[in-house]
Amino acid sequence: MSVLVVVEHDRGEMADASLEAFAFAGDLGAQLGVDVEALLIGASAGALADACAAHGAVTVHHTDHEALVDYGPEAYGFVVAAAVESLSPAAVVASGTDRGNEVLASAAARLDLPFVANCLSVTAESWEVTRVQWGGSLNEVAHLESATPVLSVAPHAVTSNPPADGSSASVQTLDVDLPDSVVATMIQDRIVLSEGVTLATAPVVVGGGRGVGSAEGFDVLEALAGRLGGVVGCSRAVTNNGWRPHSDQVGQTGTRIAPQLYIACGISGAIQHWVGAKAAKKILAINTDPAANMVVKADYAIIGDLFEVLPAITAEL
Ligand SMILES: Cc1cc2nc3c(=O)[nH]c(=O)nc-3n(C[C@H](O)[C@H](O)[C@H](O)COP(=O)(O)OP(=O)(O)OC[C@H]3O[C@@H](n4cnc5c(N)ncnc54)[C@H](O)[C@@H]3O)c2cc1C
Repeated sequence: MSVLVVVEHDRGEMADASLEAFAFAGDLGAQLGVDVEALLIGASAGALADACAAHGAVTVHHTDHEALVDYGPEAYGFVVAAAVESLSPAAVVASGTDRGNEVLASAAARLDLPFVANCLSVTAESWEVTRVQWGGSLNEVAHLESATPVLSVAPHAVTSNPPADGSSASVQTLDVDLPDSVVATMIQDRIVLSEGVTLATAPVVVGGGRGVGSAEGFDVLEALAGRLGGVVGCSRAVTNNGWRPHSDQVGQTGTRIAPQLYIACGISGAIQHWVGAKAAKKILAINTDPAANMVVKADYAIIGDLFEVLPAITAEL
């Protein structure tokens, strides 16, 4: 028996969220008294066995197939379901990302098992699970009854462990016969819309809200973000006004960010924005309203007009 981690990767590059899944699985495995094992899907994933070992996997199961050259939700879900049937793990864990949730939902449906998405913690003795609901605006405590618990880990809810030196895992091939029907939806090609630092991975995000007032108003945010090696984000009020594209939006219906520093300018801090920003290590709010939710919740605040404050910070830097 083991806790089986479904490793998320993109063409052989492991997603950071997988490291959080390993940390979660390690804790669950310790509660259950079982090892952590990993499932790698696709030829390009084979090289990740050592990284899996460094994050706690004692056995790595690798499935390759001529159709698995890139990601495909149904195919991955089929492989996970086949792995569960073959390996009978005590639980299955994956990252609570779009892909992780998609794959586990597909696998759970095939296996006719319940699937608990976006978990914060689990107590194995009672299978009490705390998970994020409603885009992060509430936490739900649930009791899970399942032959094989299938859980994804809420992004940024668990701190990943540093890799352990000198660990190795036994690598075993898991042959899966993929029917044509499940490889109907596979990534064939990619169009790169943005390269380099993205909103989700940037170390610094300078976010602007309705207080910025216009598309042109974002010039002062761009200047500061450029100086700090960061990117510009925004609130939904901004995307609703057409000042910035939706890809810049932070929040429940935008991107969840986790930078070292989030500078929120002219943003009131509505709950739907806050849930996308709260994983930032430090938050600096710049707002004319000292009672704004973002000001109250931030680590630091400057009460003032962003059009005076931001150029002053940029000039000082
Ligand atoms: C289902 C649903 C999903 C949603 N998803 C999201 C989401 O993903 N992301 C999101 O952001 N919102 C989301 N919203 C919208 C959210 O509820 C808020 O309406 C929105 O976040 C408000 O944006 P804002 O803070 O920019 O604007 P406001 O709430 O209008 O705040 C503007 C702030 O700017 C300050 N200000 C004004 N002028 C200046 C100045 N010159 N200098 C400094 N400060 C100034 C004001 O004091 C105020 O605090 C969602 C809403 C719903 C119902």
